Amino acid sequence: MSSQPAPEEGFASLGLGSRLCETLAALGYEEPTPIQRKTIPRLLHGVDLVGQAATGTGKTAAFALPIVEAIEPGGLTAPVALIVTPTRELAMQVSEAIFTYGGKGDIKVVPIYGGQPIHRQLQALRRGVHVVVATPGRAIDHIRRGALALDDIRTVVLDEADEMLDLGFLPDIEKMFALLPPERQTLLFSATMPAQTLSLARR
Ligand code: AMP
Repeated sequence: MSSQPAPEEGFASLGLGSRLCETLAALGYEEPTPIQRKTIPRLLHGVDLVGQAATGTGKTAAFALPIVEAIEPGGLTAPVALIVTPTRELAMQVSEAIFTYGGKGDIKVVPIYGGQPIHRQLQALRRGVHVVVATPGRAIDHIRRGALALDDIRTVVLDEADEMLDLGFLPDIEKMFALLPPERQTLLFSATMPAQTLSLARR
């Protein structure tokens, strides 16, 4: 049997509910990683955050767990959380993580990225989702078609922001930000913080 962390050190101590804590235990997550310990309590309080974190640190769960915690299963309307990633691989990976943390279907998540026929994504969006994980170009495409509404977004995450700027996605990101409700939580994660990324973070 694996030793359990002391209650004051486990996921529950960060403010996550018992249901999510049980899911994490079943996944074999014994205790939070340092970035999770630092960010989860603050994100649950709705603060904005800029984080410098590489992959492998548990960064995905750091932003995904507070998002999942804040969503009531059922009652599907327009998405309440939007995660923007530079590549389809990362979009699929983040989407998979949210699916798993969200009870494998209780929380509806749809990855939308280029290179996949748009009709399947349109159908999935039409059925209703809680969370959208998107690459910037395809997100703009769905917004233009009226399939993706950003009016109800409460949390937006820019994952691997440096990578998105390198790939020239800044204009698409700015278009999306112009459509987001002003009263939302904004998170930006980046492996590096060059001047351009910092300037995006400040804005
Ligand atoms: P990431 O840094 O988000 O790419 O996550 C790296 C890997 O660590 C993923 O496979 C996660 O499932 C796993 N992971 C994240 N947080 C924890 C944790 N607290 N305990 C054990 N594994 C974790």
